[in-house]
Amino acid sequence: MPTTLLTGSASGIGAATQAALQAAGHRVIGVDLRNADICGDLSSSAGRQAVLQQVLAQTGGVLDGLVLCAGLGPQVQPASKAVSVNYFGVVDLLDGLLPALEKGRQPAAVVVSSVASAQLPWERNPLAAALQAGDEVQAGQIVDGAGDKGGQLAYAGSKNAVTVAVRQRVRTWGQAGVRLNTVAPGAVETPLLQAGLQDTRYAQAIKDFVAPLGRRADPAEIAATVVFLMGPQASFVHGTQLFVDGGMDAMVRPTQF
Ligand code: NAD
Repeated sequence: MPTTLLTGSASGIGAATQAALQAAGHRVIGVDLRNADICGDLSSSAGRQAVLQQVLAQTGGVLDGLVLCAGLGPQVQPASKAVSVNYFGVVDLLDGLLPALEKGRQPAAVVVSSVASAQLPWERNPLAAALQAGDEVQAGQIVDGAGDKGGQLAYAGSKNAVTVAVRQRVRTWGQAGVRLNTVAPGAVETPLLQAGLQDTRYAQAIKDFVAPLGRRADPAEIAATVVFLMGPQASFVHGTQLFVDGGMDAMVRPTQF
């Protein structure tokens, strides 16, 4: 039975992914702020290090799978917190757990990014240099100083950077024998989306964000894609971003892929 670590396991896409992975035969170790096997806070370096220590202690330093789903939306204040969780909560765990995954059986990892990752290209991402340098303080200052635009910048900028971070690791992880991919959901019916709908700054944009399929996703539809990418049927899929967005990305960027 593969042992798979899953962040954001307590809610939304993460909770659906926990159920789907368990149904596919994984032993899942969930990480979240509360209601999880390991309770920890991915928004600070100290919190991330504490989570890593607990993971290594619980698994004996061997992991077969890693799914990084924990994330915050653009409505969160301060906006810098979304950057800390969405970017550093991913790259610190990826880099900290690669040695454990290298020792696993048919190891694989999936990062839950977003369709928003493609809407702010790296070349125009104001957070790119700070995040590439691992400068959490500077990235936080940029978004917290951006006024009303800070939330959207934090969300799209961190999701763009996290997809880039995965793609930049493709050679190292490939040589280590660990497959690594991202899933990019469109609008999914979760508490995160509901929180955005209740915020007057974002409600209209979310309502207008209608995919060609004409509806939002159920979290189970994202979870099914994660399970596919984690499993043997995806054995040659590495370094890719799989959009699960009802056609949104193709509609917005038909000539870019
Ligand atoms: P959600 O709010 O239902 O779940 C997110 C989980 O992350 C929660 O359980 C929360 O407690 C956890 N989390 C937040 N901050 C944390 C921290 N500091 N430490 C540990 N855990 C923390 O949201 P969701 O919609 O299921 O989102 C899951 C992922 O999917 C996120 O990365 C989100 O950006 C991404 N996503 C969601 C949508 C959508 O429309 N819902 C679209 C694209 C991408």
